[in-house]
Amino acid sequence: MGRITGPVCRLCRRDGLKLFLKGSRCDTPKCAFDRRPAPPGVVQKRRPKPTDYGLRLREKQKVKHYYGVLERQFRTYFDRAEKGSGNTGETLMSLLERRLDNIVHRVGFAASRSAARQMVAHGHVTVNGRRVDVPSFLVRAGDVIRVKNRKKSLQLVHGAISDFHRDVPDFLSRTEEGVPEARVDRLPSSDDVSIPVQTNLIIELCSK
Ligand code: SF4
Repeated sequence: MGRITGPVCRLCRRDGLKLFLKGSRCDTPKCAFDRRPAPPGVVQKRRPKPTDYGLRLREKQKVKHYYGVLERQFRTYFDRAEKGSGNTGETLMSLLERRLDNIVHRVGFAASRSAARQMVAHGHVTVNGRRVDVPSFLVRAGDVIRVKNRKKSLQLVHGAISDFHRDVPDFLSRTEEGVPEARVDRLPSSDDVSIPVQTNLIIELCSK
């Protein structure tokens, strides 16, 4: 069988964990990371030991790739987290988890964050009954995210729900009957993040 490694799969292999960037493929045996998690031995042996700076940078890049945010957006989240009264790392991850595109993906309405981003941008979802087409919109506890009651929107979401049986994280709940909707039961904490993140490394890098 041939190699199935697109550019995004290389990110998973480089970061050393599944980032779920390819939608349906990530949950199948075709996942490039499951097939060959480590880079080829020869290449790996040649790779120099990462510096402290390299480790911190890699951790930040991993989070950026996972949530699909660019450097400037990431910096905005970090600055906001740093100015807040709580733990910077916890607040940073909570802000990223609260993005509407992330919620749409994690609740199972879209196969990947990029598909969720497109779904939001094309106006397929509402928040508390109002159309929101901004993927970076931050949800609050109690918000209700509903799919628009129109054929195209319902097709997209029902297709995703039946194709990917994703577990809904604890801070969200989902209703599938009729027009699918999700509720934010509480604000997410770092425990709700589905990848391991060493936020201390990111703070050391970004606080300078
Ligand atoms: Fe590729 Fe998805 Fe597997 Fe990552 S998790 S290697 S993006 S198929």
